[in-house]
Amino acid sequence: QALLSACDLRKAYGPTPALAGASFAIRAGEVVAVMGPSGSGKSTLLHCLAGIVRPDSGTIGYGGRDLTAMTDAERSTLRRTEFGFVFQFGQLVPELSCAENVALPLRLSGAGRKAAERTAFEWLERLEVDDVGRKRPGEVSGGQGQRVAVARALVASPRVVFADEPTGALDSLNGERVMRLLTDAARQTSAAVVLVTHEARVAAYSDREVVVRDGTVRDMAGAL
Ligand code: ADP
Ligand code: ADP
Repeated sequence: QALLSACDLRKAYGPTPALAGASFAIRAGEVVAVMGPSGSGKSTLLHCLAGIVRPDSGTIGYGGRDLTAMTDAERSTLRRTEFGFVFQFGQLVPELSCAENVALPLRLSGAGRKAAERTAFEWLERLEVDDVGRKRPGEVSGGQGQRVAVARALVASPRVVFADEPTGALDSLNGERVMRLLTDAARQTSAAVVLVTHEARVAAYSDREVVVRDGTVRDMAGAL
């Protein structure tokens, strides 16, 4: 039983399609690595699955609904309430402390300041960076910042975490640490993780790998 499944997605920004028939399915609690050469369409697939980009055709099933048929406002709400995001760089708000960054998704969904801060620190502790909670993102290392970003992606109990090259800016030791903490936390909370990476060492933390070639992938294993 798939949690999130895409059927025959197509998307073109110009004459050459970025996605030319991509099918994909992921179950709750599964960590799937999306691999493939640069320019093969991995990020476009992730952006479609996450409701950030609307495909030209194809369907995306989630919770009995088709994301491609939703309005922008509905997809925006879905992203905020059910999905978590980790990108390669620069997604922390520089003016806020690391703990305030982690608390932000909870504050946006109506939690009080004290309760949100307490939960933020619990997550920072799980990611082994509670010591940087009071610092601004500009005052912490790249590896610490990515662990803060992972805490923020998971704090509101998302059903799906989208991670696009989450370790791309880190050295291998910090990259492996981020991957271990991200996958442990996701498995404990039964969140599914769609992990885009071109590194085999990073993909090794997944349950299975799918490969995108020239905008094409046929993966239905998660639906079985
Ligand atoms: P990957 O993540 O595998 O590197 P992408 O999905 O980023 O691949 O890109 C697939 C193709 O689509 C590439 O040729 C890329 O240049 C193009 N593309 C991706 N996003 C855009 C965009 N926003 N505007 C124009 N072209 C894009
Ligand atoms: P809205 O449609 O509400 O303005 P956005 O398109 O700004 O929403 O994106 C909503 C969510 O998707 C954000 O929480 C953000 O984390 C994520 N997101 C979308 N695109 C990007 C991107 N290019 N880089 C980082 N995060 C992104």
